[in-house]
Amino acid sequence: MQQLKTYDINDIFPASVGVLGATGSVGTQAIDVIRAHCIPVDFLTAHRNVVLAEEQIRLLSPKTYVMTDDASAKDLALRVKDTATKVYGADALDTVIREASAPTVIHSILGEAGLSPLLSAIEAGKRIGLANKESLVIAGDIFMKRIKEKGAQIIPVDSEHSAIFQCLDGKDTREIRSLLLTASGGPFFGYTREELSRVTKAETLAHPTWKMGAKITVDSATLMNKGFEVIEAVRLFGVRPEQIDVVVHRESILHSAVEYIDSAVIAQMGVPDMRLCVQYALTYPHRVEGPTARLSLSDVGKMTFSSPDMDTFALLPLAFSAISHGGAAPAVLNAANEVAVEAFLTDKISFLQISQIVSETVETLVSEAKCCAALEERLCMDRRARKHAESLIESCRN
Ligand code: NDP
Repeated sequence: MQQLKTYDINDIFPASVGVLGATGSVGTQAIDVIRAHCIPVDFLTAHRNVVLAEEQIRLLSPKTYVMTDDASAKDLALRVKDTATKVYGADALDTVIREASAPTVIHSILGEAGLSPLLSAIEAGKRIGLANKESLVIAGDIFMKRIKEKGAQIIPVDSEHSAIFQCLDGKDTREIRSLLLTASGGPFFGYTREELSRVTKAETLAHPTWKMGAKITVDSATLMNKGFEVIEAVRLFGVRPEQIDVVVHRESILHSAVEYIDSAVIAQMGVPDMRLCVQYALTYPHRVEGPTARLSLSDVGKMTFSSPDMDTFALLPLAFSAISHGGAAPAVLNAANEVAVEAFLTDKISFLQISQIVSETVETLVSEAKCCAALEERLCMDRRARKHAESLIESCRN
C-alpha cells in the first residue's frame, strides 16, 4: 500500500501572520481562522475601530497594532498601555509591514488605502492573502511584475479568484480558454431601471447570500463589484478581458470555474464562507480541516445559471471597457466609484446616481487616463477622478 505523505504542522501554517484591516468583515473572519489554528499574530492594523482593536490585542497579543487614524492610535495606546503590544499611527504602517518577521500577510484593507500597504508587502517578499481588490484594479499589472522580481506571492482571497486559483492548481494559463466568473446578482437581480430608481439604502445593504462590509455590499448591488473582479482576474491570471464570462448564479455555491482549451470545465464549490478562502491562502498548497461548514448538494437541490443584465447594470460593461482601455482607466473607474458609494452611504445621492456619476467621470477622463501607464500618473488620475466625481455629486444636490 502506498505510504500516505504526512506533514509537520509547521510546514503547513506560517510561523506568524499579519492582518491588514483586522477589524473589517474579511479581517475578523481571518482572525477566526487564525484563532482556530492557534497561529501566532505578529501585527494587526485597523483605521478607527479602537473598541475591537483593544479586544483583539487582549485576545491575540500581537507584537504591534497600527491604527491608521492618528487620533484613534492615541486612544488605543492609552487603552492598552498595560499590555506588551506596541501601538503606532499611520506613519508606521509601511515600516511595520516591511520589517515584520511574519512571512504571510492577509490584506483586507478597504479601497485605495490598501495600495501602499500592498506595495510594502510585495517589497518585503511576503506571501499575501489578498482580499483588497481596489489596489489590483488600480495597478495590478505593475504589482504582478514586481511580485516576480521580489519573490513575493499573491494567493487570492476574493472568493471567485480563490476558486479560479484552486481550479488552476498551478496549470499553465495558456491552457485556459475562458474563466467563468460567477455573480450572485445581488439584491436587485431582475429589477428594471424604473424599479432601481426607488430602492433604499437598507435594501441595498441586504445582500442575499454574503455578509460583507458596506462598500462591497453596495458594489455587489450595482454589479461594480463583478466589474472589479473582471479586472482583478485579468491582472491575476494574465487572461484577456474577452476570455472572461460573467455568469449569474443566485445560490453562491459554485464560486467560479475555469474552462480549458479541451472544453473541460473545472469548478470550485462550497458554502459561501470567506474563512475557507482565507485559510487556503494560509495553508496553500495544503488543505486542513477548518471552521467552514460542509456543503450538502442534496440540501442545495438545484443550481441556476443565467446571463447578467448588462443594460440595466451599466457598471459591469464599463469595467470591461476600462480594462480594455488600460492605463489609468480602471483607476478612474475605481476612484469615482469609491466617492459615489460613500455619497450613497451618507444619503447624498440615490442608488441610480452611483452609476451615473461613475459613468460620467470615466467618460470625461478616459481618453487622457488610458495613456497614463506609470503608477504616479495613475494616482494623479485617481485624485482627478475623485475631484470630478465630488463636483458631480455637488451638482446633483443643488
Ligand atoms: P470592511 O469595511 O468591513 O473593513 C475594512 C477594513 O479596512 C477595516 O479593518 C477598516 O478599519 C480598515 N480601513 C478602512 N479604511 C481604512 C483606511 N483609510 N486606511 C487603513 N485601513 C482602513 O471591508 P471588507 O472587509 O468588506 O472588505 C475589505 C476588502 O476586501 C475590500 O477591498 C473588499 O472589496 C474586499 N473583499 C471583501 C469581501 C467580504 O466578504 N467582505 C469579499 C471579497 C473581497 P476600521 O474598522 O477601524 O475602520
